Amino acid sequence: DDLVRLLLSRIRDVPDHPKPGIVFKDITPLLADPEAFSALTDALAAFCRDQGATKVVGLEARGFILAAPVAVRAGLGFVPVRKAGKLPGATLSQRYDLEYGSAEMEIHAEDLSGADRVLVIDDVLATGGTAEASLRLIRRSGAEVAGLAVLMELNFLGGRERVLPALDGAPYQAL
Ligand code: 5GP
Repeated sequence: DDLVRLLLSRIRDVPDHPKPGIVFKDITPLLADPEAFSALTDALAAFCRDQGATKVVGLEARGFILAAPVAVRAGLGFVPVRKAGKLPGATLSQRYDLEYGSAEMEIHAEDLSGADRVLVIDDVLATGGTAEASLRLIRRSGAEVAGLAVLMELNFLGGRERVLPALDGAPYQAL
């Protein structure tokens, strides 16, 4: 539809970034366009409201840029999930496998409570490892997962299959 056409027109393919053979989906043209950025924020905020979310989690780093205005527009608090070692307070940590090696994401344990329903936002779902680890962190905090929303899914990488078990029936939206 019109929204999808607008968003796609503002995403740039960058060949061989960050490594040879990878086509990077660059969202900076979308962020620089007030009409596209606002339309994306509206669509994600509507998804938050539909799911009855109480908090919006953004995933470092581009997920922060999308999730923060969504939280403000939906009237909800924003909580960051960060790469290990960045958050100053007491954290929960979740390790996950990469193609070579592993990575680790963290959340401030006190930012979520058992009363929260959390909507997770990121720009791109690739292998799904980052989102899966984040969903696990939210459940471990005692909060409920209200859903996962991304701007784009790179469907040839199988991320959807990886995150569905961690969603455990909560809705997933790739715009
Ligand atoms: P995954 O854990 O699903 O393999 O990787 C997803 C993470 O890597 C997301 O946080 C996303 O921002 C980043 N990412 C991977 N590929 C791309 C890409 O082509 N474009 C952008 N903008 N981010 C990407």
